[in-house]
Amino acid sequence: MATQALPETLAHVPEGAADTPDIRLVELRKSYGDVVAVDGVDLEIAPGEFFTLLGPSGSGKTTTLRLIAGFERPDSGRVELHGRDVTRVAPYERDVNTVFQDYALFPHMTVGENVGYGLRVKGVPRRERRGRVDEVLRIVRLPGYADRKPVQLSGGQRQRVALARALVNSPRVLLLDEPLGALDLKLRQEMQVELKRIQREVSDIGITFVYVTHDQEEALTMSDRLAVFNAGRIEQIGAPEEVYERPATEFVAGFIGVSNVIERDGRRFTVRPEKINILDAGDDATTGDTVETGRVRNVVYVGMFTRYTVELDTGGELTVVKQNLESSPRDTLEATGKRVRLEWRPEHTYAIDPGGRA
Ligand code: ADP
Ligand code: MG
Repeated sequence: MATQALPETLAHVPEGAADTPDIRLVELRKSYGDVVAVDGVDLEIAPGEFFTLLGPSGSGKTTTLRLIAGFERPDSGRVELHGRDVTRVAPYERDVNTVFQDYALFPHMTVGENVGYGLRVKGVPRRERRGRVDEVLRIVRLPGYADRKPVQLSGGQRQRVALARALVNSPRVLLLDEPLGALDLKLRQEMQVELKRIQREVSDIGITFVYVTHDQEEALTMSDRLAVFNAGRIEQIGAPEEVYERPATEFVAGFIGVSNVIERDGRRFTVRPEKINILDAGDDATTGDTVETGRVRNVVYVGMFTRYTVELDTGGELTVVKQNLESSPRDTLEATGKRVRLEWRPEHTYAIDPGGRA
């Protein structure tokens, strides 16, 4: 394989093994003393996929990532990369690079030296190094920044340098552990878009992204597929719309979006707040829709939309969001205590498994 320019060195031509998952975790377990951090995880991630591990703090996301990287050894189970069992293989012998949240750059080195550091350690000649560093700085949109020092950069720019530092090694798998967690909301949203663009730019040369976050919105906007973690186990794996629209368990329904679970005739089901129409109690029902009546217990005006909490006459409570086409903050204040009817299409209702584990 040629090693002159970055695109070629990045080209991981799968050797007729397109259907082999890039990452395969089999019955993976890891404990720290009494704490079971990863409790039997099975997972397959396809080459070039943007795959997210989503879950609350302490649910085992970082440990899973560290097991993939090789920084931890599992108590049992198997880690396969590109079809090869690497469970006992050292981190530096795995074709994997990690970007952490505290992306500590070397402060005394320039951006270019930081990005090229790994190549220098590997003994890549100076000229080639320079070419590859320039190429990844272009990809992360920092061309011409090679001679700056980290202190001369903003937080978002430093995060891009950290990303460039991982990309320059042309790993087959890039592991990202809450890489945007230290950034403020606006910058984080910009970087989410940037990361997706970067992933698309390198997708034809095949880098698989495994992304860890506790932020459901981030997971929904960025991922091809995601796995929802709870207490060391995976509750559901699917595309964002699948997991959001059809949560398999009560935990998933509550963790992603608003928990809107009610029980009718012994069945528990969920319906998303934006699928519910809220009307005055006197309005006529649209035929075929599910109808519930109740009383508005709480109203919150959120600018773009208003969020209503409605106590249902037949038990339980539902959250409804309504886009603010006409209503004003004043209207919303007056809505508290009002009798309403809620309607939604039957196909927007999903039965959920109360016990939990998928
Ligand atoms: P997450 O990344 O989802 O927040 P972690 O994988 O970091 O979760 O942690 C899962 C559980 O394992 C937590 O209860 C955490 O306290 C525990 N844990 C993680 N790493 C260690 C460690 N090195 N020593 C002891 N306990 C740990
Ligand atoms: Mg973590």
